[in-house]
Amino acid sequence: MRRKPRAIFLFSGGLDSILGVKILQEQGIQVAGLTFVSCFFDASQAKKSAKEIGLSLKVVDISDEHLKIVKNPRYGRGKVMNPCIDCHLLMLKYAKKIMQKEKFDFVATGEVLEERPMSQNKQALLLLEKESSLSGYLLRPLSAKLLEKTIPEEEELVKREKLLDIRGRSRKVQIKLAKKFKIKEYPSPAGGCLLTDPEFGKRLKELFEKVPQCGKLDIYLLKYGRHFWRKKAKVVVGRNEKENKVLKKLVQPGDVLIEMKNYSGPTTLVRNYGKRKCSSEIIDFAKQLTQYYSTKARTKKDVSFKITSIT
Ligand code: SF4
Repeated sequence: MRRKPRAIFLFSGGLDSILGVKILQEQGIQVAGLTFVSCFFDASQAKKSAKEIGLSLKVVDISDEHLKIVKNPRYGRGKVMNPCIDCHLLMLKYAKKIMQKEKFDFVATGEVLEERPMSQNKQALLLLEKESSLSGYLLRPLSAKLLEKTIPEEEELVKREKLLDIRGRSRKVQIKLAKKFKIKEYPSPAGGCLLTDPEFGKRLKELFEKVPQCGKLDIYLLKYGRHFWRKKAKVVVGRNEKENKVLKKLVQPGDVLIEMKNYSGPTTLVRNYGKRKCSSEIIDFAKQLTQYYSTKARTKKDVSFKITSIT
């Protein structure tokens, strides 16, 4: 008996990827999901959706390589700091390695032609296929009928007539299909990636300009608190108790933590990127911010501070 064809699917957990998986499974193809974590997105949505549809899921951490391409994308960025083409390319390269190692027949994705102007136009889809060295082995079930026939279709592992011809940004067809497959819950498109968030994007751009050599731990810090720069130092003020706790966990040797001894209020983390020790001027600036963001202490004259240098 002929064995079932096997596909490795780039699975974000969004509606398009859920539908792509369903369409392949409907024709008897065995599908395994593949998702990624980086400094800018996690696998929570993919895990949630995979569980709901009973899909096995591999999670790969690409943080280091991904940060390199975010700093220096070959194919440019979208509206904010999102280098979507480079990012997809990196994911496809991983998918190809897994395909070869674990003997999958092809790679599939939930991409829809022209759904995203930068990364899903025809030229971009072709470029991704070519640059990932997956030519002929990259199937996009939702738009396949608008694209060249792939090798699994030629070899009749996949029935082309059962694939779709969705194009553009309207999600009407996908919503109809979701009903057909009884998919009730799915996230909004493009959610979950911090690189598309304008506020986060501003912080990140500033960090890249001031500290080009910044690493993962500097990126994590961008996710919490209010951010200020004083010369080469970054001052991060916690916005609530939860963030205060997180800031204490994110400290690195050389950082300084500032809290008030006699009033409740924020925890402030100072990270100095300069060569010299944190100056008293920077510490005073951080103290002022700590006091300012405490409603109880803002106007008080008797505030005393606890200053902890992390070694
Ligand atoms: S939105 Fe984020 S995760 Fe998605 S392709 Fe773009 S950079 Fe990558």
